[in-house]
Amino acid sequence: MGSYKEEEKTDQQPKWLWVNGPIIVGAGPSGLAVSACLKENGVPSLILERSDCIASLWQQKTYDRLKLHLPKQFCQLPLFGFPENFPKYPSKKLFISYLEDYAKHFGIVPKFKQSVKVAEFDHVSGFWKVETQDFLYLSKWLIVATGENAEPVIPEIQGIDKFKGAVLHTSVYKSGTEFNNQRVLVIGCGNSGMEVSLDLCRHNAIPHMVVRNSVHILPREMLGISTFSIAMALLKWLPIRVVDKLLLLVANLTLGSTDKLGLRRPKTGPLELKNATGKTPVLDVGALSQIRNGKIQIMHGVKEITKIGAKFIDGKEGEYDSIILATGYKSNVPSWLKGTDFFTEQGMPKTPFPNGWKGENGLYTVGFTRRGLLGTANDAKKIARDISDQWRKYKGFCKNF
Ligand SMILES: Cc1cc2nc3c(=O)[nH]c(=O)nc-3n(C[C@H](O)[C@H](O)[C@H](O)COP(=O)(O)OP(=O)(O)OC[C@H]3O[C@@H](n4cnc5c(N)ncnc54)[C@H](O)[C@@H]3O)c2cc1C
Repeated sequence: MGSYKEEEKTDQQPKWLWVNGPIIVGAGPSGLAVSACLKENGVPSLILERSDCIASLWQQKTYDRLKLHLPKQFCQLPLFGFPENFPKYPSKKLFISYLEDYAKHFGIVPKFKQSVKVAEFDHVSGFWKVETQDFLYLSKWLIVATGENAEPVIPEIQGIDKFKGAVLHTSVYKSGTEFNNQRVLVIGCGNSGMEVSLDLCRHNAIPHMVVRNSVHILPREMLGISTFSIAMALLKWLPIRVVDKLLLLVANLTLGSTDKLGLRRPKTGPLELKNATGKTPVLDVGALSQIRNGKIQIMHGVKEITKIGAKFIDGKEGEYDSIILATGYKSNVPSWLKGTDFFTEQGMPKTPFPNGWKGENGLYTVGFTRRGLLGTANDAKKIARDISDQWRKYKGFCKNF
């Protein structure tokens, strides 16, 4: 992978390393994909990863029962697909094994335990300065691959510090085994909230799921075909609003009215809402039938957490043993990338899709399209093409110098 030259460390300054090729921050699927595509184009790179493994989100922050939400053909990385014997929706374990094989296949060896604290373009030298706890790395190119899900979102909820039981985010939830016979309040009703509630049911816990806002729930498949594939195919021919109407028509026919279960649908359709706000529709894998038969209870908005439970905005109260925050994740880019206004305060590129992959002065982003791994694959190919053109000129210049 990327070679680098070390210089002596002084007491005041971190040791610096000159990187021969782009620096990629993050060794998740996006970092691996862009590194592989660069390699295919003859460009070395160096991945800096804060944890001690590749795909740390998948290896360390996801629950055991997780499977890819989308069918495998939409989740494979460029140049090296899933093995043919993988099921339609690979488990997290299979997905991780695929990513490990992917890294091995392309000889990708990230530098682990390198948490990027600050990265800034130096206009005088024309290099990106990327600082971790150990080193100052220098490169002509910086590729941000830290993901849309870098940090858990922990909301402030009145009284939560008084609660006597366990409070945990879904990023540390593994399985319902440890919640056997417990009454558990799950705050949040996205894909994670639904799947964790379902998992709790399967382990004889009693989940109450808090639904504060409206939510679109779609069947994962319609007539044996994945809803996502159907949506993708229809979008080639029809406007997004028409596709949304068709999806909702079939969803209502197959799932019935979710409003009646206390799960109000937003006024905007699922795909239009996803485009506008990034809010992903829930793909039902069984939680809805548990809501229907009362094994998952729906609660409306927490007013306050008490020592032993919660008070809700509709006046109801409940006692709970544990609270699980299924409140999602956020990007962490603004905390470390400085001196550029390319990103919003929420850490997403300001330039809308499909043009958010390239900034100024050799800055690139991969995996920030709100389009999952499909978006990652497209970004990675575009970035590799763009940098490889510059790389050839740069190498030619260095040779003549
Ligand atoms: C529960 C769950 C299920 C999902 N299912 C699907 C699915 O089925 N299909 C799909 O397409 N998408 C799915 N996604 C979205 C998923 O996040 C992405 O598809 C994929 O993991 C994104 O890869 P990434 O490399 O962009 O980000 P990540 O996987 O988050 O990787 C980013 C890496 O950057 C590292 N990093 C962060 N900050 C720093 C720093 N300052 N310095 C150094 N390293 C840093 C992190 O440790 C991490 O290893 C799911 C997400 C979740 C949470």
